[in-house]
Amino acid sequence: MNVADSQRVASALEHLGYQASPRAEEADVVVMNTCVVRQSAEDKAYGRLSSLNKIKKHRPDMVINLMGCLVGVKGNAKVAQRFPYVDVFSPPSDPMPLVDYLIKRDGREMEATEVAQRFAWQDEDLVLPVEQRGNLVSAFIPIVYGCSHACTYCIIPYRRGIEASRPPEEIMAEARALAAQGVKEITLLGQIVDRYGKERPDYPNLSGLLRRLSNVDGIERLRFLTSHPNWMTDELLDTVAELPKVMPHIEVPIQAGDDLVLKNMRRGYTNQQYRELIERIRARIPGVSIATDIIVGFPGESEEQYQQTYELLADLKLDVAHLARYSPRAGTVSERRMPDDVPDEEKWRRFRLLEELQEGIAGEIHAGYLDRTVEVLFEEQVRGRWKGRTPTNKLVFVETETDLRGRVLPVQITRTGPWSMQARLPAE
Ligand code: SAH
Repeated sequence: MNVADSQRVASALEHLGYQASPRAEEADVVVMNTCVVRQSAEDKAYGRLSSLNKIKKHRPDMVINLMGCLVGVKGNAKVAQRFPYVDVFSPPSDPMPLVDYLIKRDGREMEATEVAQRFAWQDEDLVLPVEQRGNLVSAFIPIVYGCSHACTYCIIPYRRGIEASRPPEEIMAEARALAAQGVKEITLLGQIVDRYGKERPDYPNLSGLLRRLSNVDGIERLRFLTSHPNWMTDELLDTVAELPKVMPHIEVPIQAGDDLVLKNMRRGYTNQQYRELIERIRARIPGVSIATDIIVGFPGESEEQYQQTYELLADLKLDVAHLARYSPRAGTVSERRMPDDVPDEEKWRRFRLLEELQEGIAGEIHAGYLDRTVEVLFEEQVRGRWKGRTPTNKLVFVETETDLRGRVLPVQITRTGPWSMQARLPAE
């Protein structure tokens, strides 16, 4: 979501005549986009902010824009007070505060409303920053902003605001513009992406949107994330199975394996229901890969309760598990009402055990790809090797002199590990 937001700001700035600079030290304008989902992310933002302050002391004209969840949709007076050298504060996804500021500062003739109209993201020039046009193979499109599902640990609804689906025409226009700029793969984004269109009877649902997007010429692959177990309909699963452009990969977080912990998290489902959901996904989408998110050390989580998570991961053998240690976020229900009583070392222990387990599972799943031929969409060259992804979202590297950017090619897997695979082009 933040990557998509940052690209949007970059495009807007280019529209005003600014260019990307490789180093903050040399930039006239620095935009710092922030995440606060865990304390570690927030701390990183503070660290970067103070190093920007050092630069600004030498170059007082430098404009610093603090953007994203550290600011939030309602603004953040504490942060504004603590970082007086920040010139502009912007909520998530919104380039306009900075645009307005720069228009005024630079004494431009342009009316802010005129700019806002142009930045309705229907303008083909604006979708990707210049340096990425023709370079970026895989792009994100946010389709649901904000979130209205009150998971007790989560700060996102407070900072990104209530759930709002983007108009389908806007999404389609953006997809067509991205395709025209060379993008081959689009990932649709939302905190609960499968709730797309729920509050708008005149909008299609996610299945309908995927159908429409399937017709965009030039776009070869579609993905979406993140799903919530309670909103994954059979219709959506069947759409994924049916539409050739929609990749067989589902990101559906469980967060914890124990029913009481799930209840305290206010997730709205049980261990058993999640297991049934995984069965249902696998039955309806042949060859599907599934990713989950897990939080260890939620308030009150006992060893036995944690074991439920461990067993669930061991049983289900999912492709990916994004692991996190519980981090209390100011103002959330869990922070206010539930003591953060699992010691840090214990959170780390649980985290490492799950990491080890999942590494074994992923290694095993990947070993099953050995010698197989799979279709890979190649994105970029990384240290001399071409990096791409299988339909199931597995990372594949190919060593070759040929320019593979943006191409979908069948390759033969020659080596596998828990994190990635190596492959060769056919008949080489
Ligand atoms: N809306 C998506 C993604 C939320 S943020 C969803 O609900 O799945 C990505 C992940 O960060 C979450 O899935 C969760 O595992 C983790 N996370 C969120 N709040 C957290 C917290 N307070 N402490 C630790 N991890 C957290």
